Amino acid sequence: MIRIAELRLPLSQAEDPITALRAAAAARLKLAPEAIADLTVFKRSFDARKADLLAVYIVDVALAEPAREAAVLAPLAGDPHVRPTPDMAWRPPVGAAADWSGERPVVIGFGPCGIFAALALAQLGLKPIVLERGKPVRERTQDTWGLWRRSELNPDSNVQFGEGGAGLFSDGKLYSQIRDPRFLGRKVLQEFVQAGAPEDILWEAHPHLGTFRMVKVVESLRERVLALGGEIRFQQRVVDLLLNQELPAPALQALEVENLQNGERYELPTRHAILAVGHSARDVFMQLYRRGVTMRAKPFSIGVRIEHPQGVIDRARWGTHAGHPLLGAADYKLVQHIGSGPAAGRTVYSFCMCPGGTVVAATSEPGRVVTNGMSQYSRAERNANAGMVVGIDPPDFPRDPAQFEAQLGEHFGAGDPAADAAHPLGGLVLQRQLEAGAFTLGGSNYRAPAQRVGDFLARRTSTGPGEVEPSYRPGVTWTDLHAALPAWVTNALHAALPAFGRKIKGYDMADAVMTGVETRTSAPVNIQRGDDFQSLNVRGLYPAGEGAGYAGGILSAGVDGLRTAEAVAVQLLGVPANP
Ligand code: FAD
Repeated sequence: MIRIAELRLPLSQAEDPITALRAAAAARLKLAPEAIADLTVFKRSFDARKADLLAVYIVDVALAEPAREAAVLAPLAGDPHVRPTPDMAWRPPVGAAADWSGERPVVIGFGPCGIFAALALAQLGLKPIVLERGKPVRERTQDTWGLWRRSELNPDSNVQFGEGGAGLFSDGKLYSQIRDPRFLGRKVLQEFVQAGAPEDILWEAHPHLGTFRMVKVVESLRERVLALGGEIRFQQRVVDLLLNQELPAPALQALEVENLQNGERYELPTRHAILAVGHSARDVFMQLYRRGVTMRAKPFSIGVRIEHPQGVIDRARWGTHAGHPLLGAADYKLVQHIGSGPAAGRTVYSFCMCPGGTVVAATSEPGRVVTNGMSQYSRAERNANAGMVVGIDPPDFPRDPAQFEAQLGEHFGAGDPAADAAHPLGGLVLQRQLEAGAFTLGGSNYRAPAQRVGDFLARRTSTGPGEVEPSYRPGVTWTDLHAALPAWVTNALHAALPAFGRKIKGYDMADAVMTGVETRTSAPVNIQRGDDFQSLNVRGLYPAGEGAGYAGGILSAGVDGLRTAEAVAVQLLGVPANP
């Protein structure tokens, strides 16, 4: 097969592109169209930079005479857009173990990382045991609606916790910018399709699933893990690690687990556990710190969620083509480095943009308010929303022991404000401070503080909505968001919003709504691991996914789950990795 990139068709031809693509591919290969036996679309994106909007394709073609492939490619060796189609099959470093009866590996957490770790272990015959603190998706959905509709939070079953992980109530964006030379992202997408996702996720450049479809896909992936001999235990929260201290380096011996159905605690012996707990498992981070597991503070971002009428975004992105059924609701990505003024040196960027979606209450802890966004596959809601966040580095994190005591219940040795390195848990302290402050500002009833952009830029308290109705449930309290965020965040937003308004016409419109606070953009810690994917100082513990700082998003978390499962399989089966 030959892969050809940068084949461009006008939007009108993109509705039935195969004939036109076949002709374009043949021309690029300097062949007659009949010389191409088969053509499949590998990726499709849209280029809206010129007045004439174009669909841009990457295609794979099979020649009618496959033996001619090398001869056809030879004169095109200098063309970066024409090359042999790479091998995208999953080739794990170890073969499947038939009738495995050795130690069963454990996966902690059944979000995207845990799901794909468990699936890969099951496919390799290793019959994993999954421990998930939350409930199966359907019950979890009821609990999550409890917060959105009745302001009732279940701390173990919510937007962050439960089957499907943090990505369940989401836009279900399924793309990533990770380096992926083994095409593991492709395996994740193919597994999604086998589990019922639409096939277009394989070839759309920016595929997405939306929440309802994600629910069905997650249930189907669960069934596949079970069918392959895996076991999934819901409402089982891992509360501690039991380590064997007799070895030169501590090694995992067992997990202490709380059964949330009856409150009983028990030990589950295991020497291989993948820790895929996500970025909101603060109790886990604190316990790992108490146990001395090597970790460090990690940069993340904080800010607000911003909502605009979807039509404003569509017109800015697609111009006169806005509303074309092929294009759907437009997305955007914005970045602004602040060069001068009080926020000089900061970077503001859009995060987890959800076209035609809603802003959601995303806290997992009582007495806190956190925003995020979700949508359905149709992306048909009237507002576009995105996180509008400012990067923060560990030197910015709090170091005052009193703040640690207040937010974490312990000062965790945060006694040296002059220490060079930030305290590993300093990011948690900051997140909790901001989330608790937003809860209070919102009225202490899970309503979120909100402000119109015009009022924010004029430093004036908002008293109600304008053209844009906020979609956040259980509702918003109109206020001044300067009280919810540090000055370096609000200063950076002041500088960035007008700049974004120059990139997307209307972006800084007075009636756009900002809702706060957006604090869970990624994990505030990195639980470090070595080349063998094991913790630097606890053998048998495999930190993985977003919570450990090795992924950011559904696809990359799934890929990290696959890679970590392979590393566990290599340890268990004793076979060295392929070179
Ligand atoms: P998680 O998905 O967080 O899963 C961790 C799991 O571990 C959870 O199920 C949790 O219950 C469980 N757990 C935690 N502690 C314990 C414990 N002690 N014992 C047992 N189990 C435990 N990303 C995208 O790519 N596209 C999107 O459109 C998108 N939208 C999002 C929308 C929202 C509202 C949110 C919150 C996130 C969104 N994300 C999106 C981010 C994405 O969800 C995460 O990057 C991804 O889920 C991380 O996967 P993970 O498996 O590493 O962790």
